[in-house]
Amino acid sequence: MNKFNKAIFLDRDGVINKERKDYVKTINELELEPNISQYIKELKNLGFLVIVITNQSAINRNLTTHDNVQSIHNYIQKVLRSKNTSIDSFYYCPHKPDENCDCRKPKIGLLLKAKLDFQIDVKSSWFIGDNDSDIESAKTFGCNYLKISSTFPLESAIKKILTCT
Ligand SMILES: [Mg+2]
Ligand SMILES: [Zn+2]
Repeated sequence: MNKFNKAIFLDRDGVINKERKDYVKTINELELEPNISQYIKELKNLGFLVIVITNQSAINRNLTTHDNVQSIHNYIQKVLRSKNTSIDSFYYCPHKPDENCDCRKPKIGLLLKAKLDFQIDVKSSWFIGDNDSDIESAKTFGCNYLKISSTFPLESAIKKILTCT
């Protein structure tokens, strides 16, 4: 196997949709970043896979369900497909911090799974997140990373990747 892929890993809440302090539990609570389909298109035009890596502890806090989370992801795909793009895969961790799983960021279980599933070349891949745990997981994994914030929004992160590659 010598064909490797490069990927953009995106955190979900706070990156592709607005974060809610009480968690995004249903489609009704989902507020997508307005330009997300355009950004994903631009990244895919550069040959990147686009993969979501998200902590969804609201599941094991019994605030939402696997079904709801999957419905949210299906809905995001539907919106993106209507704009002729899509996310290649969603990986989520349902666990609470005290469960000490291997997949809750800053742990890298989900990244390692994606790497295997898609034969990803880590060094040519990027993580975009809004949280220190995103950046920590990217550092452990060994990929490039960008932390977005009010002063460095997603648009700036996309531009940075477009000019770096
Ligand atoms: Mg986030
Ligand atoms: Zn987990």
